[in-house]
Amino acid sequence: MTPAAAGRKRSVTYIFPVYNEAENIDLLHRTVSQVVEPLLDRYRVDFIYVDDGSTDDSTARLQALADADDRVTVVELARNFGHQLAVTAGLDLADADAVIVMDSDLQDPPRVSVELIDKWRQGYEVVYAQRRSRRDTTFKRTTASAFYWVLRKAASIDIPRDTGDFRLLDRKVVDELRKFRERDRFLRGLVSYIGFRQVGVPFDRDERHAGVTGYPLRKMLRFAADGVLGFSVAPLKLISRLGYAISFLSLLGIVYAVGVKVLAPETTVPGWAFITISMFFLGGIQITMQGVLGSYIGRTYAQAQGRPLYTVAAVRTAARAPGGPGDSTDPASRSLAG
Ligand code: UDP
Ligand code: MG
Repeated sequence: MTPAAAGRKRSVTYIFPVYNEAENIDLLHRTVSQVVEPLLDRYRVDFIYVDDGSTDDSTARLQALADADDRVTVVELARNFGHQLAVTAGLDLADADAVIVMDSDLQDPPRVSVELIDKWRQGYEVVYAQRRSRRDTTFKRTTASAFYWVLRKAASIDIPRDTGDFRLLDRKVVDELRKFRERDRFLRGLVSYIGFRQVGVPFDRDERHAGVTGYPLRKMLRFAADGVLGFSVAPLKLISRLGYAISFLSLLGIVYAVGVKVLAPETTVPGWAFITISMFFLGGIQITMQGVLGSYIGRTYAQAQGRPLYTVAAVRTAARAPGGPGDSTDPASRSLAG
């Protein structure tokens, strides 16, 4: 049943992954509550805070928040699972017409979330906030732009540049996203992969309000690897190319060795041509064969990710009597097929 048909307000759930954000939680909640205040006559708004194994005061602060505001749900993960899985836990729990995923350190300005809701009302199903500028360290900026460059070159899908996970997702998209159960996940890539009508809203990214980043270099590199490896088998293809290149060189080497053997046999020691030729030849074959293995591993990997094969936005047929044999407007009757 659509919300309009039921005559109820559409609902929006904010999802905040929290890892050691004790100094930010109260301000964040106050700011977001203020920002959504004018929307409350049109939307029902609630909040899911996912405590990703925080070791500071965050857990107690969140508990206090849940006690004070009945729109707040707190999910406490049993240990630190990382940002992407914390967001996933929130998405799994949410039951709204749209969700907004935001960082909890106030780097994603709460007022921008209202613009995301505006675009959603215009009919977009994915509204991602796109950084026009970011006030991070030069190191973070350089590594981030290098990462996006590699990703665009290597990945088989088009991930919009300068977007983080700050975005609004319509319920339809969340439902699709829930079907992706891969462990090493790169959510923004999955959202691009899923499709639907997507649009960006430019914004200026602020500085972290308090505390320290939960993404040290080690986690950042791992995250970058999840982005590239999750959406491309380019590194495996590289093996094949290398194999072809070495095989080609070995061919030249063979020609050279034979040439020397025939034209100037006195310059070589016995057995030289045989050893040289077999070395080049076997090297080329070995790497080429690794490339062949790589192609199979690539396919096995894609299959093991177990992603849904496609995502359906709508099934349309000519209007018929409801419940009749041709009636396919009820998605529940179709989803069992998968
Ligand atoms: N975060 C998390 N688990 C982690 C690391 C970070 O839930 O293991 C949360 C963190 O609380 C914040 C968001 O993910 O809300 C983004 O993290 P952070 O601000 O540290 O990353 P940066 O902005 O430095 O890339
Ligand atoms: Mg941050």
